[in-house]
Amino acid sequence: MTTLSKNAQICSVCGCVKDYPSVMSTNAFGSVDLDTRPPEMKRSTMPYWVQVCPECGYASSEVSRELSCSKEFLQTDEYKSFSLPEPVSGLTKAFIQKARIESQSDKYSEAWYSYLCAAWAADDKGDSHWARQSRLLSLEQIGRIAKDEQNENLTLIRADLLRKTGQHQRLLNEYSETRLSEEFLNNILSFQLKKAREEDEATYTAADIE
Ligand SMILES: [Zn+2]
Repeated sequence: MTTLSKNAQICSVCGCVKDYPSVMSTNAFGSVDLDTRPPEMKRSTMPYWVQVCPECGYASSEVSRELSCSKEFLQTDEYKSFSLPEPVSGLTKAFIQKARIESQSDKYSEAWYSYLCAAWAADDKGDSHWARQSRLLSLEQIGRIAKDEQNENLTLIRADLLRKTGQHQRLLNEYSETRLSEEFLNNILSFQLKKAREEDEATYTAADIE
């Protein structure tokens, strides 16, 4: 089971003090999704992966952490606003704002994952618009990561993002010749290519790989 604790955090931006729940322990039974989303019960702990200060709107894994960009950025529409229709889930918004700070701070290797978390939170609410938008934003951030910092795990997640945003031909064009270092990883990639040919945008887990 998942156990939580409450910890008081002092916002590093505005000094607001608030209790935030955090995960003391959890478990994960079953197969991970092909984009690395964990199975239950860890799957349901996402609301505790991001904190938003109620006073200044700072979104971070912990608001006591130093803000990595200027304070003024938190006041901009670029940070605060969402195009219509707005995300259904407040959690989606929180992860997107966390990602916006990371991207603004050139931390693309963190921002892509925050956008992916935003997509998962949108998936959970049946918000297909922001699930897609968040995945496109995640892909954009991955594109900004230096090639020598991209590993095979990221290559496979990127393939899943392309497939789930309907970019099937692009996935086939870019990955048909790709060979990874381990058989299991190549099997995952072959599976992604097969599903891309079928124009299948569904969620699959590692257990679906033969
Ligand atoms: Zn604050």
